[in-house]
Amino acid sequence: LTSSLEAAWSKLKGEEVLTKENIVEPMKDIRRALLEADVSLPVVRRFVQAVSEQAVGVGVIRGVTPDQQLVKIVSDELVKLMGGEVSELVFAKSGPSVILLAGLQGVGKTTVCAKLAFYLKKQGKSCMLVAGDVYRPAAIDQLVILGSLNSFSYSVISLGQVDVPVYTAGTGVKPAEIAKQGLQEAKKKNIDVVIMDTAGRLQIDRTMMDELKEVKQELNPTEVLLVVDAMTGQEAAALVTTFNLEIGITGAILTKLDGDSRGGAALSVKEVSGKPIKLVGRGERMEDLEPFYPDRMAGRILGMGDVLSFVEKAQEVMRVEDAEDLQKKIMSAKYDFNDFLKQTKAIAQMGSMSRIMGMIPGMGKITPAQIREAEKSLILMEAMIEAMTPEEREKPELLAESPVRRKRVAQDSGKTEQQVSQLVSQLFQMRARMKKLMGVMEGGSIPALRD
Ligand code: GDP
Ligand code: MG
Repeated sequence: LTSSLEAAWSKLKGEEVLTKENIVEPMKDIRRALLEADVSLPVVRRFVQAVSEQAVGVGVIRGVTPDQQLVKIVSDELVKLMGGEVSELVFAKSGPSVILLAGLQGVGKTTVCAKLAFYLKKQGKSCMLVAGDVYRPAAIDQLVILGSLNSFSYSVISLGQVDVPVYTAGTGVKPAEIAKQGLQEAKKKNIDVVIMDTAGRLQIDRTMMDELKEVKQELNPTEVLLVVDAMTGQEAAALVTTFNLEIGITGAILTKLDGDSRGGAALSVKEVSGKPIKLVGRGERMEDLEPFYPDRMAGRILGMGDVLSFVEKAQEVMRVEDAEDLQKKIMSAKYDFNDFLKQTKAIAQMGSMSRIMGMIPGMGKITPAQIREAEKSLILMEAMIEAMTPEEREKPELLAESPVRRKRVAQDSGKTEQQVSQLVSQLFQMRARMKKLMGVMEGGSIPALRD
């Protein structure tokens, strides 16, 4: 997904604004990328439509390139598609909260039971697991083992201890009955959260649905979560829809996101079923369960470091007046050291140099050494500009013309004359580049420094 999207952004290199015409090709790449990621066609269509509409109307933000802007729009739409905000687990106001887990066989329900208990225990909640998978005695054992890691060693787990009580009733008892007894037991023990595991099937069948309905009626759960395997792609969204229509669910848990799943499941579930993904499992260890953050997922899908927060911060830092002021100055070739410093400080305000580097697409391969170098030159620059007189800052030509002035700046800032010369040249290069960017054709020549 990431590499096909890279192609989309690269098609905008050299463009100045997003237009109806120049987004056609990138949008095709985005469409293809989503389909390849196993997102269903109707979802892709709506998505592409929404992004295109926004892209054309978007205003230019100084310092942000059109490809970065498109990344931001795509990301915002992805986040919206995935439900926007984090969807928190709901807990009962009094008495035990009950979380009922459902799902097909092998998707990771039993593992989620233990992970969830581990997760909630860290939040200070007492938990109890109820073993409702009566068809596989091994499943009960598995849950008992997972629940009491202090006394057993379980090959899958490498870290941490769950150590919560597991309520079991053997294989002869109906799941609804186990649920009822389990809940009574939890009330007696003043347990905060009861997590009920259930039996899965290879496919959806009547018996499973009926059984789940009975269990649900018995428990009156605060959460009914469908556990789905991310590897099933589009199928995941369809399953969530079906289970929701059949038994009524409150959300989904997407497991095995650590595998080489194509991410389509995460994108479609909310849009197709109307139910949010609440948690994701990304590994076999107990701590590999976390809330589902739509924004982080979008970032991961786009694989763009954090262009998004870069664009956001650029919007904040470069206030409109500043940008307009700057534009006027560039137009009249008056961009000076004060602007240079202001901009440099604005960049510094956006976070450390190293973070910004990571935010800019195509700059991912910069080494830490190079980053440190860039940071150093930023500090150097500031010292030299501060050693200039107000007049010199406003009229960089003065410095270009006078080696005496450059020498004084070098001495006052403790730098070499060569470093000062470099900075002066840099300013004129910047002026020229900016003029070009603004589409001003005349002027912009870079003066050679006089010796
Ligand atoms: P159930 O049949 O739904 O109860 O599934 P299990 O909990 O027994 O899990 C089936 C297999 O999937 C086990 O081998 C688990 O270790 C594995 N599994 C569960 N969740 C994850 C996950 O998030 N990532 C990976 N890689 N494996 C998982
Ligand atoms: Mg199981």
